[in-house]
Amino acid sequence: MTDSRTAGAILTIDLDSVVANWRQLRDRVGPAACAAVVKADAYGLGAGRVAPALAAAGCTRFFVALIDEGLALRSLLPEAEIHVLCGPLPGTEDVFAEHRLTPVLNSLEQMGSWARFLAARGAPLAAGLHVDTGMRRLGLPPDELAVVAADHGRLEAAGVAYVMSHLACADEPEHPLNEEQRLVFADARAALPPLPASFANSSGIFLGPAFHGDSVRPGVALYGGNPCPGHPNPMAQVVRLQGRIVQVRDVDSPQTVGYGATHQVAGTGRIATVAVGYADGYLRSLSNAGSGYIGDRRVPVVGRVSMDLITLDVSHLAEESSRPGTLVDLIGPHNPVDAVAEAAGTIGYEILTALGRRYHRVYTGDGTGGA
Ligand SMILES: *Cc1c(COP(=O)(O)O)cnc(C)c1O
Repeated sequence: MTDSRTAGAILTIDLDSVVANWRQLRDRVGPAACAAVVKADAYGLGAGRVAPALAAAGCTRFFVALIDEGLALRSLLPEAEIHVLCGPLPGTEDVFAEHRLTPVLNSLEQMGSWARFLAARGAPLAAGLHVDTGMRRLGLPPDELAVVAADHGRLEAAGVAYVMSHLACADEPEHPLNEEQRLVFADARAALPPLPASFANSSGIFLGPAFHGDSVRPGVALYGGNPCPGHPNPMAQVVRLQGRIVQVRDVDSPQTVGYGATHQVAGTGRIATVAVGYADGYLRSLSNAGSGYIGDRRVPVVGRVSMDLITLDVSHLAEESSRPGTLVDLIGPHNPVDAVAEAAGTIGYEILTALGRRYHRVYTGDGTGGA
């Protein structure tokens, strides 16, 4: 185990901000309910800390991707609804029952297996039904939906308690697929008996009430990702990543820095080496593209990101503010998750879920959101 003194980098996760973000979304969508998506270990931030904080704040419904994630969450949250987006793998239905996990049924095949399991068990158990409206990934395709629409008994047999769908382009409000999916989902619901609906992810919430249904499923916005790309981020930042300078060296033109000699120092300058690399999820695409901040001074990543180290140009900083031991913000107030993602040519989701295992993790806030 690391402590903050010996750690090469410190990852601080503010649970109060997670809770404040959930409350903001809950208030925005009311009277619709606000669940929380905590798959992939709460987007890398630690479901073991995040989910109990959200539950304490009043969140009663959680979504994970995989059965094993649901089992881990069940041991933390004995009371919560835990919905598993992938649904039952063949032969795993009993696991759902034993641990009171709610399967999302994605196909006629999953519906059938679940219905047979329930019939044999002789006791009902709720499930969600995922209707594909344009993602073409999970969920009943139109021909399978038509089978269900013609035989509503299948819903009852499978214990379907709500119907859901997932938006493909919600982060692009002008994209025509949003409205197309909304209409396809409305038609699907009209072909089924009245059932509560769940539709919007984080960005979908900001498409407006027509996309909310009876409950929403935000993930990334809870963790500070901007659900409205191109506009000011309405969410509170949750993550701060501080890397530590291990060595500083003076260099003279025309010396090069790092593997592949991809950066050439322009004049005389100083390079600070920080103990964070691609093994920590500091993506290699940030080579010659990322930025750190020391206070409010930007220090660009120069040269390639290597496994354990990055190199930053600190030439313009006073020597005393860039000594070994100094912490550099690699994700922070001046370079939030989405800015780092843009520099890396990816999305905030990938930056968060890649956050490494070597960081000294600090959780701040008691999860009450300051309330
Ligand atoms: C991951 C996921 C979400 C959450 O998406 P965000 O964009 O992170 O808010 C919601 N619904 C489904 C089906 C998902 O797979």
